[in-house]
Amino acid sequence: MSGGGWREVGPGVFQRRYDPLDVSVGAVLGPHGATIIDTRNDPAEAREIMHDVARRFGQPVVAVVNTHAHYDHTFGNQVFARAGIPIYGHYLIPRHFEQFEGPRLDLVRERPDLEPEMSWSQVELTPPTALVDSAQVVRPGGRELELLPLGPGHTDTDLAIRIPDAGVWFLGDVIEESGPPMFGSGSYPLGWPLVLESLAERIQDTEVLVPGHGAPVDRAFLVDQAGRFSALAAVLSQAHAAGATLQEIEFGQALRGYWPEEFLKEAAADAYRQLSGS
Ligand SMILES: [Zn+2]
Repeated sequence: MSGGGWREVGPGVFQRRYDPLDVSVGAVLGPHGATIIDTRNDPAEAREIMHDVARRFGQPVVAVVNTHAHYDHTFGNQVFARAGIPIYGHYLIPRHFEQFEGPRLDLVRERPDLEPEMSWSQVELTPPTALVDSAQVVRPGGRELELLPLGPGHTDTDLAIRIPDAGVWFLGDVIEESGPPMFGSGSYPLGWPLVLESLAERIQDTEVLVPGHGAPVDRAFLVDQAGRFSALAAVLSQAHAAGATLQEIEFGQALRGYWPEEFLKEAAADAYRQLSGS
């Protein structure tokens, strides 16, 4: 269930789940201002975040971090950029915008019926102003955040954010709780399990993980999801090696029980493209 206002997931660290899409927005409070994680689907929704933060916390927004490039996490960026607020994000977001979000935006502007819930007429694609290409520590508003660019998984622009003094991670759509993780729009089904396994090595059992969509989870949840991705990657690699066509892939009961048919097909198409180097 989304809605319900800001929920404190660690000392001075909040999550709010916004509709449409039950997308997570984070607020990390420091002595001199709040850092916002992800900016929602359009400028009006981003202004709502600004308003909600001011009303609930009485603090200015001093920085923004994008967990990855997808529209539901970045299309509000321009509101913060125009206010002169730095936006941190994975260094490949500009390339992803060119390949995926830009064309998607153009298409929906021509055919608004394709995304009837989205009002994208005012969106100006705004990449992060501070591109992150290696692990780094930042202190916006005086609160320490670790930014960790991840390998190709949900996208090739995924960035994990850890607030060490609170034991909280924001992981974007590398994990999802409110539904099965989604493929497509530049996903890497074969790299995804490796990303989760490397995160599992860094995450403590007591830490809280905030997914891009859904309620906070723990390390055990992430390890479970890693196992499913790894089983899927094995099926896809073996099928490709055996020369099976996309239609011939046998996913088996367990994977079919976890992901809907169309998700598995999307994953297979992405994986086959990558395995054949196209
Ligand atoms: Zn998302």
